Amino acid sequence: MRCKCFEDLEQKVKEKCTKANMTDIECGFKHKALVMTESPYNSLVMLPMEFSYRLIKKDGSKGKNTRTETVSIAPTYCTFCGEKISKE
Ligand SMILES: [Zn+2]
Repeated sequence: MRCKCFEDLEQKVKEKCTKANMTDIECGFKHKALVMTESPYNSLVMLPMEFSYRLIKKDGSKGKNTRTETVSIAPTYCTFCGEKISKE
């Protein structure tokens, strides 16, 4: 069993937009991942985490440039209802 929070929220946004005289509404969470491995979800909203760093050179000194990257983290609990993301 799994919650439907993400799908329900997308539907609520569509309904609110429709009531506000909008049409051809497309909506969905960013950072959605298609899960190809065995998982309780076919797709999952990922939490993007940004990190920045400077590389350490071979001589031990800090690199000149700061680099910024993003890594996506999969939650283990629904961020809205708190239900554990599991197969049962
Ligand atoms: Zn939920």
